[in-house]
Amino acid sequence: MNYITHSLGGAAAGVMVINAMGVNEPTQQSAILTGAVLGSLFIDIDHKKSWIAHKIPLLANAASGLFKHRGVIHTPVFVAIVSIILGVLDWSWLHEWNVFAPYFIRGFIPGMMSHLVLDTLNVQGIMWLWPISNKRFHLLRIRTNSMMEMAVCVVLGACLYGKYGSFF
Ligand SMILES: [Zn+2]
Repeated sequence: MNYITHSLGGAAAGVMVINAMGVNEPTQQSAILTGAVLGSLFIDIDHKKSWIAHKIPLLANAASGLFKHRGVIHTPVFVAIVSIILGVLDWSWLHEWNVFAPYFIRGFIPGMMSHLVLDTLNVQGIMWLWPISNKRFHLLRIRTNSMMEMAVCVVLGACLYGKYGSFF
């Protein structure tokens, strides 16, 4: 999926977190949404030409050099490792450094998960069971930047607006 579809998926995940946590403070909501959208875009760090790779080229060069696109970084294990690291950082000092950091992280993690879910709709799929199996799973056969992806993007945007429009 392209970065627009992933951003919308991340935003949807962020709104779900806001609703589930019952966060009413606008600045805290913004921190969750920002984290969710960036989390959803972060997973494509293993693709040199992705939106996030242009923002943090050094990390993207390292990630895309070490791992192939839609490989290890596109797995629940990677998301779990990043989540644990962020959780430990938050628990130890991050929450004291910035009051919005805990909210950002609570958006970032579901944002990353939304990326895996959306990429599962692509024909290439992702390795949901890695490292047990390298088999790639996909639910649909959508090609990136195709008309079908555009349809997913529009449906996602409409759902987001329809269900949570009042929120924005
Ligand atoms: Zn991806």
